[in-house]
Amino acid sequence: MLAPSAATGILARLESLEDSFARLMNGKENPLCIVIDDTLDAVRAVIKGRTTLMFGTNSYLGLNFDPDCIRAAIEATQHSGTGSTASRVAAGNHRPHLALEAEIAAFYGRTDATVFSSGFGANLGVISALARKEDAVFVDAHCHASIFDACRLSGAQVSVFRHNDCDDLRRLFAQSAVPGTQTLVVVESLYSVHGDMGDLKAVVAVAKQHRAVLVVDEAHALGIYGRTGRGVAEHLGVEDDIDVIVGTLSKSVGVIGGYAVTNTPALRSFRLLARSYLYTASLPPAVVAAARQAIKLIAAGDSLREALWRNARALHAGVSALGLHLYAAPGPVGSIRMPGFHAGFAFWKALLERGIYVNLLIPPATPTGEVVLRFSTSAAHKPEHIEAAIAAFRDVSRMLETA
Ligand code: PMP
Repeated sequence: MLAPSAATGILARLESLEDSFARLMNGKENPLCIVIDDTLDAVRAVIKGRTTLMFGTNSYLGLNFDPDCIRAAIEATQHSGTGSTASRVAAGNHRPHLALEAEIAAFYGRTDATVFSSGFGANLGVISALARKEDAVFVDAHCHASIFDACRLSGAQVSVFRHNDCDDLRRLFAQSAVPGTQTLVVVESLYSVHGDMGDLKAVVAVAKQHRAVLVVDEAHALGIYGRTGRGVAEHLGVEDDIDVIVGTLSKSVGVIGGYAVTNTPALRSFRLLARSYLYTASLPPAVVAAARQAIKLIAAGDSLREALWRNARALHAGVSALGLHLYAAPGPVGSIRMPGFHAGFAFWKALLERGIYVNLLIPPATPTGEVVLRFSTSAAHKPEHIEAAIAAFRDVSRMLETA
């Protein structure tokens, strides 16, 4: 606990936040500030002097260590420098940014793609550019923080419907005074905390019935779902009914950045309105070059997808067989509800001590206020990594059961 202080106002509020966090941690190491001392490859890192298997990154395809992506990044840096040092609307609109956009658009089979400097910025820019005060936005309760911040920034009337509950979405339309054509519906295709799939078919049907604009965030699905890796919308055959797909370059693509694709000419105007596009520096040359190479690999990437799915299914089966209940069907993200912070922390720490890193998620990062152990799988995991993770889960769950 912090020593009592005479602070008032903003300082007092922040001190009391620090104080409650310190009380919650009670001398434990902070799972939110774990230090990666060294990164060895896409799935191995050194933490506290120990080589640790990483089951808590979003490198679903291992492309952050792909030799061709690394080579592309090095060559681009040598040729064009380390940063663009300007925004897209100033001196930061380089030929490779346009090439990346054209390649993303072509990958999705859409007419237009806009690249942002982060996935967070893509949601922020797209949603706040499309919706205004006189409009409504209906958002799934489990959507990412960037979507909620974007809604707030738009100034529109924001309503939240129960997670994956299209009856609740219908209720919002029925009760709304705003016409459907002035309503934006925003959902994700693979929800990042629980790893469950959005009910896109049902959402599409409701949005279409009301002629609303539908935005789907495919951040966790790119390169993993769908016949050609375009995501859950492709997997479920509903791509043509989605007005804007938002994605990120920071997960399966292995770099950083975000994008939005559309086929609707009028919707392209978010490029002119999105403040997170207009007023921030564009992506550095290395990132653009690595992203272009990674998207090429994803487009040709049946073997990467197969490896990811083989690993994800094996890990899901192994962990489920221990009697641990996973929220969702096998996928790149697995998630287990913990009975509270202390139990979750004990599980997380014991896994780490056995050389397995997963995420411990606590509110407000979890949508329903619970504590969650979240793990992710990569195409870069080897069978022995999956076996080691299952063995550690077995060991820890037995140990905690008998404790
Ligand atoms: N959308 C979703 C669904 C996410 O999970 C995240 C990040 N976890 C983002 C957007 C933001 O992406 P980025 O980290 O690339 O800014």
